[in-house]
Amino acid sequence: MDKNNYFITLLVPVYNEHEAINSFYVEVTKALSEIEGHYEIMFVNDGSRDDTVEIIKKLIEKDKRIALVNLSRNFGKEAAMTAGLRHASGDAVVPIDVDLQDPPHLILDFVKAWLDKDYDMVYGIRVDRSKDTPMKRLTAGAFYRVFNVMTNKVHIPVNAGDFRLIDRRVIDAINQLPERNRFMKGIFAWAGFSSYGIPYERPERQEGSSKFNYWKLWNFALDGIVSFSSMPLRVWSYIGGMLGIIASCYMIYIFTKTLINGSDVPGYASIMCAVLFLGSVQLISIGILGEYISRIFIEVKNRPVYILENIYRNVKSGVKHGHVEQEVELTSENDVNDR
Ligand code: UDP
Ligand code: MG
Repeated sequence: MDKNNYFITLLVPVYNEHEAINSFYVEVTKALSEIEGHYEIMFVNDGSRDDTVEIIKKLIEKDKRIALVNLSRNFGKEAAMTAGLRHASGDAVVPIDVDLQDPPHLILDFVKAWLDKDYDMVYGIRVDRSKDTPMKRLTAGAFYRVFNVMTNKVHIPVNAGDFRLIDRRVIDAINQLPERNRFMKGIFAWAGFSSYGIPYERPERQEGSSKFNYWKLWNFALDGIVSFSSMPLRVWSYIGGMLGIIASCYMIYIFTKTLINGSDVPGYASIMCAVLFLGSVQLISIGILGEYISRIFIEVKNRPVYILENIYRNVKSGVKHGHVEQEVELTSENDVNDR
């Protein structure tokens, strides 16, 4: 890719946003008037029931850089972003909210880090969440913490949203993922590649109102955790095992006590032993089921086992195996050095 002639797709999911679109367009074009490369603004209409589509169509007549991907109904923001990523043609894609909560001028910083430092992913980190309600801050903080504890390989950067710049290589990798449950923040983190965070202050929504309520966010968080972690399924074998050990100690205790002192209530010791023993056996067996189900779950998701970042191979000397001579230049198969 030519550093002076790159092409960026802004990916804007919209759902009932007729108040917000025009001011978004004005702000974005103003902010991006300074960039060297070209860009398109791709709106993904996520089944809006207001006149969002008409407003975008009017903009398309005025400005050739605008595109519209129209979904047949409301599928949710994650699905809208998935559709956008599949249809975006840019060398990089920037998912951005239409409500101007993702400041457009930050795109310039993203592009700079992408071009100058060769990062494959440059994301915004919300440093100041004071515009969010205390409840939202608390629940969001808890979510990032729980998610990162429960998933051992995928770590989502705390307070990073969807607002980021994603290089074509990462998009191609993400587009390969066949899974249906698309928790994009997790998927972005899962894909890997070199990434870099830029802090910013998140302003309030400019027009219209938020499309998420706590119930939606709760389900969203649950989706995210469940599709990236099998810990909730597997944890039962450990809980069962631990309870089993405690129960055995207690069983020995009441057993010997009954032998020495005789029983106060006939049958108490034997019933207690049976309840504790069966309880822990049941938990352990649920955990074992969990182990198998979690593997089925991983297989069913059908994610590629790995994503190749690049291959360096000594093409000049034709050496395919074994020793590669030092003076020969290494070349990369997917043009990483071209940028
Ligand atoms: N959005 C969408 N589909 C939905 C809900 C939201 O495409 O089902 C879009 C919405 O139009 C906006 C972005 O996702 O561009 C973020 O939504 P919002 O600002 O309501 O979320 P919040 O900032 O409150 O988390
Ligand atoms: Mg918003």
